[in-house]
Amino acid sequence: TLAPGEGRNDHKDLIAADARHVLHPWADLSAMSDEDALVVQDAKGVHVQDSEGKTYLDAIGGMWCMTVGYGRDELVDAMADQARKMTYYTPFGDVSSEPAARLAQKLAELSPGDLNRVHFTTCGSTAIDSAVRIAHYYHASQGQPERRHVLSRKNAYHGSTYLAASLCGKAADRTLFQYEKDFVHHLSSPGYDADIAEESSEQRLAELLAEMEAKIEELGPETVAAFVAEPILASGGVLVPPEGYQKATRELCAKHGILYISDEVVTGFGRLGHFFASEVRFGIVPDMIITAKGITSGYQPLGAVLISDRIADAIGESAPENKPVFSNGYTYSGHPVACATALKNIEIMEREDIPGHVREVGPYFMKRLRELTDLPIVYTVRGDHLMACVECWTGEEAGPTAKNMALAQRVDSYCQSAGLLVRPYENLCILSPPLIVGRAQIDKIVTILEDALLRAAKDLACGAFE
Ligand code: PLP
Repeated sequence: TLAPGEGRNDHKDLIAADARHVLHPWADLSAMSDEDALVVQDAKGVHVQDSEGKTYLDAIGGMWCMTVGYGRDELVDAMADQARKMTYYTPFGDVSSEPAARLAQKLAELSPGDLNRVHFTTCGSTAIDSAVRIAHYYHASQGQPERRHVLSRKNAYHGSTYLAASLCGKAADRTLFQYEKDFVHHLSSPGYDADIAEESSEQRLAELLAEMEAKIEELGPETVAAFVAEPILASGGVLVPPEGYQKATRELCAKHGILYISDEVVTGFGRLGHFFASEVRFGIVPDMIITAKGITSGYQPLGAVLISDRIADAIGESAPENKPVFSNGYTYSGHPVACATALKNIEIMEREDIPGHVREVGPYFMKRLRELTDLPIVYTVRGDHLMACVECWTGEEAGPTAKNMALAQRVDSYCQSAGLLVRPYENLCILSPPLIVGRAQIDKIVTILEDALLRAAKDLACGAFE
């Protein structure tokens, strides 16, 4: 664990520098110059420490990405060894590096079906972007350049490049930016909460499928390139689709020659108890899988598109004029230090059977969290293994209303003062602890969260949100 922190003499300078010069992702611009950043300066295991020396249990897992825990010397040594040996060389054309080749081989071994070809990127967003481009490239190479439409879902989160942001479906994230509207289409959000739903899971599934089929027919099946889907929608609010949804949508795609791109940026690398969840948990072998975050346990930026042999071979076998140079990739695609980190991370995860640990503690985490549904300000608790969310409400109207968001923010800040970081998002408290989290730490998370919920409920009863 982390020793009690000293705090830094320059703490105030740091937050002033941040407030003056950093533009944060998803910044609240009305508070941009406020000197209130949490400057994280130290981390070990499941804990992080801020620049004032205060330690927190990190129930956010960095940002869905921490698998083996903070401060693992073995990982840091692997990074340093590779950096000393060969820090970087271009990945373009036919130049490779040992870590990239070995990691691609390992990913092919871990992934389902015939997903044996890997295109490395720099993060999840660039992997999503690349996957859609690969879908377009593939169809064009097969003489079907008119297949350009891409289906996504409301509430999806796929990243922040122009195209990835256009695939996102959260209404609140549609702001002053521009979005691709010509070939990106959003189906309904597939979230299904069994405990509060008014219709059965079968009914909901039938509706979702009918809508998808109708959209494909409306666009013309021969014009649809791909369907992009997180198996469980993560940042959209940990939305779990009805039973059988992934399999049925996969079959619908196969029927119409539409490529199925499974975004496993969050569900992969152990969060649901397996390196990849698509096949083991949801019974599907997609055409492409996207991975990032947990692949390096967040120690290095890296993303990858795993592509089926069927697609790669079909491109390879097409006429020479139908496969011009594959003009997609990044300076840092397959960065040697990032790939060496991922290889060591996978080695640790296999050696310590971290996916098995998640299969063991995940159901306990969800069971303990579900106990909170009895509290008056908890609308519902949902999730799967180590991805979860507690949805708050004032008892009036459900959803991200101003009052519900203020309530959840109060819960988050009570948690933070008690040394627990949960991710404040609209009226949700999102939880995705490092995968090494133990039962005692799970109990601590639930105890602090329960206390915070009770205090916020008391504030509500005292009219604090009027
Ligand atoms: N896809 C999913 C499901 C994500 O949750 C995220 C990030 O949170 C991304 C893609 C984008 O990944 P990145 O932020 O590494 O670009």
